[in-house]
Amino acid sequence: MVSIFDIFKIGIGPSSSHTVGPMRAAAAFLSHLEAHQKLVRTTRIKTELFGSLALTGRGHATDGAIILGLAGEDPETVHPDKIPQILEKIANEHRILLLGNHNIRFVQDDDLLFNVDERLPFHSNAMRFSAEDARGNELDALTYYSIGGGFVISEHERESATPPDGSETCPPFPFRTADELLEIGRKNRLSIAEIVLENEKIHRQEDAIFRKLNIISNTMDDCTERGCRMEGILPGSLHLKRRASQLYRDLLDSREKALRDPLTMLDWVSLWAMATSEENAAGGRVVTAPTNGAAGVIPAVLRYCKSFHATTDEHPIYNFLMTAGAIGALYKLNASISGAEVGCQGEVGVACSMAAAGLTAALGGSNEQIENAAEIGMEHNLGLTCDPVNGLVQIPCIERNAMGAVKAINASRLALRGDGKHVVSLDKVIKTMLQTGADMQTKYKETSEGGLAVNVVEC
Ligand code: SF4
Repeated sequence: MVSIFDIFKIGIGPSSSHTVGPMRAAAAFLSHLEAHQKLVRTTRIKTELFGSLALTGRGHATDGAIILGLAGEDPETVHPDKIPQILEKIANEHRILLLGNHNIRFVQDDDLLFNVDERLPFHSNAMRFSAEDARGNELDALTYYSIGGGFVISEHERESATPPDGSETCPPFPFRTADELLEIGRKNRLSIAEIVLENEKIHRQEDAIFRKLNIISNTMDDCTERGCRMEGILPGSLHLKRRASQLYRDLLDSREKALRDPLTMLDWVSLWAMATSEENAAGGRVVTAPTNGAAGVIPAVLRYCKSFHATTDEHPIYNFLMTAGAIGALYKLNASISGAEVGCQGEVGVACSMAAAGLTAALGGSNEQIENAAEIGMEHNLGLTCDPVNGLVQIPCIERNAMGAVKAINASRLALRGDGKHVVSLDKVIKTMLQTGADMQTKYKETSEGGLAVNVVEC
């Protein structure tokens, strides 16, 4: 079972698969060396990146993430403002303190290689770490895959089919499909959020679950707030100007006009999505929802729910997040949340589907209406490609989050106006999304070799 806290993880931008995942993989390799008493004998660590990680890794800050992971930093706790200093020190000294306690020589150009012409068969986001002793003998080597949303799996785990974060404990209401989820709800008279809550209790107590959800929600809010105020240029070769702060000021200055234009509320939704996504693009603190690239959709729709709806729900945030998390888990289990595997369907598409479900739950929708909203949210994102310009999570990603958020609200409204009965089931649309992703040409899957990435000329 995928926990909702595997879907909603606190990390740093700009990418869960290209930043958070590689950082975790680097640390995991060193922990493996330490567990086998090889770390003390290590004098060189070499990292090779393949496929999408190699092609868009520089734009997605994969190199910095690997170095931070080797230095023992964790995506959840590393302070985004301190990252430039840490990286600068390692680059200047040509030395790195592995896991913070074993000092070796490290020269980025020699020890961190981008194999842009090579793609490993299992997944486009592959990286191989190797350790050498003082005589240049290889002590150990492992391949890891960053499979989306910050999830990482090693070659061994893949071969032995061991889930990376596997738990032996069986949840009271296990489900793998939306149909099973609906059936559990009908049989036990439980909402989707209540089912999730019972399942999560195998990991932690109820008050700890709510505390964790509050932290997730507050981190999302802080990120959005910061994005609304930050000015300037985003990092990277596009020199893209941040737009959220100007939009925020415009909206504050035209409140009277807003009374005559009800669609102004959509401007607020777009603002919140773009502000969060700009923070992600700037390497700030974000929550994967389900990925970093799509991290603006859920905070924007959740904020829309809190700002524009007087719900009768006592805990709209919990209801929203637990329901959205259940839908995210269905995509993780049955398809993919990796842009490098299925295109942006797996990122903004999944976020839209999750947000539509969460909003419908918070507004009092039935389980059937929630499933319908999630289905609509994905059905109209089928075929969405991933083609970030210059390999940066900026164009089309930032605006795409705004579009995903608005679409999620519409999906929820359509579902809430119906009775939950519909032709295309969520399970069918998830299956279709996976097939569409498999049929999609590789150049449209986070390689920067197709689509907007080749048609937008760098100024
Ligand atoms: S286009 Fe979509 S999938 Fe690709 S990097 Fe941007 S947000 Fe992620």
